[in-house]
Amino acid sequence: MKLIILDRDGVINFDSDQFIKSPDEWKPIPGSLEAIARLNQWGWRVVVASNQSGVGRGLFGMDTLNAINDKMVRSLAQAGGRLDAIFFCPHSADSTCDCRKPKPGMFVQIGERFNVDLSGVPVVGDSLRDLQAGVAVGCKPYLVLTGKGGKTQLDPALPEGTVVHADLAAVVAELTA
Ligand SMILES: [Mg+2]
Ligand SMILES: [Zn+2]
Repeated sequence: MKLIILDRDGVINFDSDQFIKSPDEWKPIPGSLEAIARLNQWGWRVVVASNQSGVGRGLFGMDTLNAINDKMVRSLAQAGGRLDAIFFCPHSADSTCDCRKPKPGMFVQIGERFNVDLSGVPVVGDSLRDLQAGVAVGCKPYLVLTGKGGKTQLDPALPEGTVVHADLAAVVAELTA
């Protein structure tokens, strides 16, 4: 089984320092939805793993997060794509939960849900913590330069072997070449 794990904000949709707090604020990065559809066509299962500390901070509720994710799923369907699962950590940044990236809790859950070893599974993110969480369970790190990626690229802590691409569409072009 071919599995790929994507961060949401800054990878699939434009990020905001003020958080994505409503469906209206969720806007896809050009080419990202088509890229996910292409992954599906090539037999990849696509899973999202996203920190959503805005919930834990009280900026928006679970109903709003669900509505935002619904918009993503509907937009993706219009582009001919689908996600196999959406995992998220709703806890605040000062939480001691196991799921907030860079901790690998969501990735462990994904491995259990799909009953796969995550060794070599591509993880695509725009922040260091996305890649660190994936590398902790053996994933192969892909950094995109959308979202916070331009800044992340300069971080000396970037995991060894990180593959850098302009955006998700470019990552997918490599994986489906
Ligand atoms: Mg991000
Ligand atoms: Zn958490």
